[in-house]
Amino acid sequence: MDISKHKVLQDIYEVTQLVEELGCSTELTSIVVALSEIGEQTEKIVDAVKRKNAMEITLGEDGVVMTWQNPFPKTAQCDCGCDARIAFVAHEGFSGRDDLKRVCEMHDNEDGNMWLHDSCAVAVYFCPTCLAVTSKYNQA
Ligand SMILES: [Zn+2]
Repeated sequence: MDISKHKVLQDIYEVTQLVEELGCSTELTSIVVALSEIGEQTEKIVDAVKRKNAMEITLGEDGVVMTWQNPFPKTAQCDCGCDARIAFVAHEGFSGRDDLKRVCEMHDNEDGNMWLHDSCAVAVYFCPTCLAVTSKYNQA
């Protein structure tokens, strides 16, 4: 999806100019105010969407140390009973940059709805027998 903040703001500006040329009735003034508010909201939404996320990937056993707590194991037990092998670790927060989007910001952690409260690391394992996925995670 192509989101063009510039185009939306330009359209709003042009409508505002047109209304000023025509002379502002009370109704038109209300419309201009509403358009300005839409423009501000659009700007915030586009900025939020464009914000780069903090998640990075480290493949295989190199990823076991990309953790916020103890190192991840190289294998994890699959539901079928076999040892699943580590495929990769997805991790965020190690860059120290606060301007990057993180998983913990996606939902609130309140009123009985649990969600992560800080940067996370997620190890993903594939079973060599049934190819099922097993995962482990921790957070800062
Ligand atoms: Zn399995």
